[in-house]
Amino acid sequence: MGASPWREPEHDELAELVRAFFTKEVRPHADRVLAQGHPDREHYRKAGDLGLLGLSVPVEYGGGGGNFTHEAVLLDEQMRSGDSSLGLAVHSGIVTGYLVAYGTEEQKQRWLPGLCAGTLIGAIAMTEPDGGSDLQAMRTRALREGDDYVINGAKTFISNGGLADIVILAAKTDPTQRASGVSLLICEVSDPGKAGAETHESGSVREDDATRHGPTGFRRGRLLSKIGLKGNDTAELFFDDFRVPATNLLGGTEGLGFAQLMGQLPQERLVIGIGAVAAMERAIELTVAYVKERTAFGKPLIGHQNTRMVLAECATRTRVSRVFLDDCIAEHVRGELDVATAAMAKYWLTDGQCEVVDRCLQLFGGYGYTTEYPIAQMYADARAQKIYGGTNEIMKELIARAL
Ligand SMILES: Cc1cc2nc3c(=O)[nH]c(=O)nc-3n(C[C@H](O)[C@H](O)[C@H](O)COP(=O)(O)OP(=O)(O)OC[C@H]3O[C@@H](n4cnc5c(N)ncnc54)[C@H](O)[C@@H]3O)c2cc1C
Repeated sequence: MGASPWREPEHDELAELVRAFFTKEVRPHADRVLAQGHPDREHYRKAGDLGLLGLSVPVEYGGGGGNFTHEAVLLDEQMRSGDSSLGLAVHSGIVTGYLVAYGTEEQKQRWLPGLCAGTLIGAIAMTEPDGGSDLQAMRTRALREGDDYVINGAKTFISNGGLADIVILAAKTDPTQRASGVSLLICEVSDPGKAGAETHESGSVREDDATRHGPTGFRRGRLLSKIGLKGNDTAELFFDDFRVPATNLLGGTEGLGFAQLMGQLPQERLVIGIGAVAAMERAIELTVAYVKERTAFGKPLIGHQNTRMVLAECATRTRVSRVFLDDCIAEHVRGELDVATAAMAKYWLTDGQCEVVDRCLQLFGGYGYTTEYPIAQMYADARAQKIYGGTNEIMKELIARAL
């Protein structure tokens, strides 16, 4: 990342802090976290204590007062550390972004400090069991009754959904409309007795019951069993006459939700691209080290022409990806990243991640298929990148529309 043109000495200092946080606080618990299927709450709080959450949130709301480049350093270093349990991309890279961009002054003051301190965990819920790509067809309803909205519906695949205290929920406030009927509501869904959940050591949110009940009208499904990203709590959320005060409508005006989503999705897609490029770089680093050690037919693997060709191709794809990503980051900081370019970044960088990680895994031979080697986890984790944040097929639709 040293070559990134937007990088200043302060980014290097931040990177060092993030690296130390993951090395000392998070990675030593990796096996337990993978087994329990979600990160520890404590890890969010420690990240908050170090000032790593809400790096681009203005200081008056408890944030770091930086910009998107600081978020980029955080996410890049997390990927390099090998952790995919803490949902920082969503919590810090996405949820706080919605509040900063669209929240009323009262909403910002109410939730941003907790999100930046890591005492509140954030999630965003768009996808429903019946469909994620066609967002305008969502079925979840939030209908106004007096001073409240009454929410009914279900969301699924929600990252951080097992632990989340704050969910930015996409719902129809006018079910007769498609895009213009969508609004975003901030749902406070901390489990009663959250204090207990914060302190008990296993911190497990897996329970024998199929669901856990939160405040009245809200419950979480079991954590979804996935092929990768096993340390992150991806969950279904159910709303059954769940009431939120009308003051929780993001931005305070109904019907703006779809436009708000469209406004923030380029950042969400760039966040995914940052993870993709960091993963490619890490995969190459791990593989180069391995092929220098391992021998076959009397010489190190790196001495075989195929190994050299594969790594040269992967390194080239990765370098080109880094340059494109850096360009997108710079455009985004200037407020100029358009929907089509963000879609190109998301699709091309995640396709590249899957390709590079797969080819690197091959160079590990049988060991690459065992969980002893991090390349195996990287392979399983990478696959989701082509799906969430809008599938890569939808990205191509968006690109084609702009042609
Ligand atoms: C690990 C993980 C974490 C996630 N986290 C979140 C989260 O935090 N919040 C959230 O809201 N969602 C989240 N998602 C959901 C994700 O965004 C959706 O899975 C995704 O948008 C696709 O929706 P779907 O699964 O309903 O697939 P569908 O929409 O049913 O699509 C199925 C297939 O059809 C294709 N397809 C659909 N429409 C078209 C079209 N018009 N043209 C061409 N092909 C098409 C798709 O590309 C896909 O290949 C997460 C998913 C995963 C796996």
